[in-house]
Amino acid sequence: MSAHPHIDDWPHTSSPESGTSLSVRILGASGGIGPGRRTTSILIDRDILIDAGSGVGDLELPELQAIRHVFLTHSHLDHVAFLPFLIDTVFRVDAPPVTVHALPDTLEALQRHIFNWVIWPDFTALPTPEHPALRFRALEPGEQIDLDGRWITALPARHTVPAVGYSVSRPDIGAFAFSGDTTSTRHLWRTLNELPRLDLLMIETGLPDEMDHLAGATRHYTPLQLVRDLDHLRHRPRIAITHLKPGYEQTIREQLATRNNGDMIVLSGNERFELVG
Ligand SMILES: [Zn+2]
Ligand SMILES: [Zn+2]
Repeated sequence: MSAHPHIDDWPHTSSPESGTSLSVRILGASGGIGPGRRTTSILIDRDILIDAGSGVGDLELPELQAIRHVFLTHSHLDHVAFLPFLIDTVFRVDAPPVTVHALPDTLEALQRHIFNWVIWPDFTALPTPEHPALRFRALEPGEQIDLDGRWITALPARHTVPAVGYSVSRPDIGAFAFSGDTTSTRHLWRTLNELPRLDLLMIETGLPDEMDHLAGATRHYTPLQLVRDLDHLRHRPRIAITHLKPGYEQTIREQLATRNNGDMIVLSGNERFELVG
């Protein structure tokens, strides 16, 4: 087969459960809210969620119930806001817990500020402490987790709070990476270059070039910074841009287009990619 897997946009016909593909479904890719805008959330196959922004709210109940693992990039609200609703919606007394994987700082923030019986019940102790609906599992950048042949690795990122990105790969099928929220950091690009392959890279470009001061303060990418850093990537993946600030989507799109002639798409939040080896 080709060294570069075939990537189909939505709609698609092959089944993510077929065992021969890796499905990446974008549920939310906006930096804010409004008609048609959902915040960051990505469904891998049927059972793995990366971030739990407002895009999760569009899934049907059986799709919500199929989620077994949630990987969080960081603690900011646009990435975790729908986790409490997800857990409350799907938990059953006889169901195994949903596992949330994240940096220790992120898990501590969730426990202290959200699942604290004030903002939301503590589902790490409900319905009973022995059989909770939610369990936390701490991870560190570089750590690799095997979930039925899907290898998930936390990638270094640089944001205003401790943050990671993730790569998800199936050897011989394809590899997807997501930056999470980050500004420029050589650690991310070095780690991406060390991956054996990279077929689809989803990376944020949160703010337009004229807001580079704000981008520096809030640690997001601008088009100029991103295109500069992409020069250092040894892989040639399809690039998918996410987390655009509402109202600036067209500006960011144009700024990226004038500086880049690669295979780049700006996500609207309802795309689906099928990596097939
Ligand atoms: Zn953030
Ligand atoms: Zn964000």
